[in-house]
Amino acid sequence: MNRRDFLKRTAAGTSLMAVSGIEAQAAKRKVKKVETRLPAEGYLREPAREIPVVASADVVVVGGGPAGFAAAIGAARQGSSVVLLERHNHLGGLWTGGLVLPVLNTRGAGPDGSWTKVVCGISDDVCGRLFGMGMCINEMNPMVDPEACKYVLDEMCREAGVKTIFFSTAADVVMSGSSIEAVVIECKSGRLAVRGRMVVDCTGDGDVMAWSGVGFREIKYHIGLLARMGNADRINTQAEGFRAQDVGGATPIPGVTMLHMRGEEEQDGLDVLNLTRLQQKFRRQIWERVQNIKSKPGYEKVFLLETAPQLGVRVTRALDAVHTVTLEESMTRTVFPDVIGMSGASDPIPYRGGVVKGVDRPVWQIPYRALLPRGCDNLLVAGRCFGFEEGLAWDAREIGTCFVTGQAAGTAAALAAAGRCSAAEVDVEKLQGELRRQKVTLAV
Ligand SMILES: Cc1cc2nc3c(=O)[nH]c(=O)nc-3n(C[C@H](O)[C@H](O)[C@H](O)COP(=O)(O)OP(=O)(O)OC[C@H]3O[C@@H](n4cnc5c(N)ncnc54)[C@H](O)[C@@H]3O)c2cc1C
Repeated sequence: MNRRDFLKRTAAGTSLMAVSGIEAQAAKRKVKKVETRLPAEGYLREPAREIPVVASADVVVVGGGPAGFAAAIGAARQGSSVVLLERHNHLGGLWTGGLVLPVLNTRGAGPDGSWTKVVCGISDDVCGRLFGMGMCINEMNPMVDPEACKYVLDEMCREAGVKTIFFSTAADVVMSGSSIEAVVIECKSGRLAVRGRMVVDCTGDGDVMAWSGVGFREIKYHIGLLARMGNADRINTQAEGFRAQDVGGATPIPGVTMLHMRGEEEQDGLDVLNLTRLQQKFRRQIWERVQNIKSKPGYEKVFLLETAPQLGVRVTRALDAVHTVTLEESMTRTVFPDVIGMSGASDPIPYRGGVVKGVDRPVWQIPYRALLPRGCDNLLVAGRCFGFEEGLAWDAREIGTCFVTGQAAGTAAALAAAGRCSAAEVDVEKLQGELRRQKVTLAV
């Protein structure tokens, strides 16, 4: 090789390198970086893969808690094909898996101040069945048995034709313009895709809305862990030295009680290291609490039946919805033209410089716009991550309220799928008519 050839080659090589370097940088820029709140030691490039589409439906519901279950049933009742994706092996979310057994917020102060029931619909269907089986107690705030509840939720999905897929964690979405083309799941069968004309995010944490690029706010809230104790009916009150201990609240199974825990305040429920820390700490605390009760005279036979399979994460993300429901609106009985359901409220709350007692809290309306994200055409959000402000977080996430937003989101998704329109284009009057037919209370 002479000097001229050498120079030619190296010049070409340099420019080739330069070009490929630019391309590589451009390609790098196009690759979406996965965001994490954990400290990253560096980044790895995952090779592109083709993933199998294993199911398609008119409506794909992600998360099988009270909201997701109600969304799936609501959509199926409209004649939609429905796939319900759940990462655990049971439906009910925190209600069953978190051992959060009492359904709150079904009632509140009506216009005349009297205690009025406003959560009906699918919530009544489930609790009615459980009452009939002797697996639900308390008319006011129904308290269920978790195993009976899981069984009933499975049965109702089977009867409605909902295709439930357990053991599947939604891990991402594939977008097509401003619509979700498919939900990507990770499971023992691999990394798979599920196509839906409409998608309802009922993950509680708003995982799907976060991946689909719509706006949301993060809220730090208290996290706890619930448990059940056995043999509470075998406490010997006649034992020498007996003193009454707190053994938790009664459940439908005689002798089995529910141990509540508020837990730690202002926690990040999206940080798995933090979640692991809390899980281990709370499990230890519950074990020691029950051992302590057991050591007292007359309590020798009590035992820890189980700690909840799901950690008690209350709130993490809330949708930046077309309309964010405020505490003020809930306290002043704001009437919405696009109301899709009502919620009760049961806890005392600081308001306008004072504290309003639980029994004086008004029932409140929820507008369709609070389930509607901005910027994603085929997504609706329900459950403990719909569009509410932080001041209303205590009430907006209770199980009764989750049933209401779930049922409305599922019904709306079915109407959108059938009408080939976006979530925002759903005929709200028609939606309201369908919800009334399903015994949902829209006004009192
Ligand atoms: C400690 C504690 C005490 C509470 N006490 C009460 C009470 O007494 N009464 C009351 O009414 N409410 C109570 N609540 C609130 C209530 O339990 C929840 O807010 C309610 O269950 C929320 O319902 P949801 O369907 O929105 O979400 P969840 O119940 O959280 O259900 C979400 C479901 O989605 C699944 N999921 C999540 N992410 C994914 C994913 N990426 N892919 C697939 N599946 C996913 C989860 O496994 C879960 O099954 C309490 C909550 C806590 C934490």
